[in-house]
Amino acid sequence: MTHAVKYHPGIPLLEQYVEGTLEADVALAVSAHIDLCPHCQQLCMDLSAEQGLMLEKTVPVAETVISDMDRMLAEIMAQPQLDGCSKNMPAQGPVQVQLKEKTFTVPRALARLVEQQTKWTQLGSIATTKLPAGDKRHVSLLYIDKDTAIPQHTHKGLEITLVLSGRIVDEQGSYGVGDILINTPDDTHTPRTLPDEDCLCLSVLSAPLQFNKGITRLLNPLQHLFY
Ligand SMILES: [Zn+2]
Repeated sequence: MTHAVKYHPGIPLLEQYVEGTLEADVALAVSAHIDLCPHCQQLCMDLSAEQGLMLEKTVPVAETVISDMDRMLAEIMAQPQLDGCSKNMPAQGPVQVQLKEKTFTVPRALARLVEQQTKWTQLGSIATTKLPAGDKRHVSLLYIDKDTAIPQHTHKGLEITLVLSGRIVDEQGSYGVGDILINTPDDTHTPRTLPDEDCLCLSVLSAPLQFNKGITRLLNPLQHLFY
């Protein structure tokens, strides 16, 4: 992959990911990012090694420590060894998936979930499909056609977007494949795609988006599309 990932989850989230304390739906997005990001793969291995050393010092019987994240992911996806940091990670690369009559490459961590999805909901040039992951947050694939803007919105909760194909631009930056955007209730943005390239993202939302402009009546269907 020639694109260099610029936007990362950050050390605190990676630490929680390695510890196994991240909730499953957030861990899924972080895991998919790690699949696409050699930088965070290395950080994860370093953090795992550090935590391993700390555990050796503090917990005499290491076998009793079970990663909650591993367990949750395994239950949800019935697929063990999803931890991107695991040394026992199967030698399996990204997976090609047919969506919207196009072939997209999705990270290994999402392959099984994406293959299960069948039904897209489309509104204009935006389409979504809910993924059967997590139970606290809304996890979906979001397809945005080229030259499309999502109306300006804020977030009532956490919004995590991972770019899987194409590029998204908003007021804060330009995000390519592997880049992860984490927005909180303090953030307002108007994401849009490039004039000549469509985009596929993973979206994890803890609350519906709050659209700020336009007629609420017209934006309501859009709100339902996302959540
Ligand atoms: Zn990264």
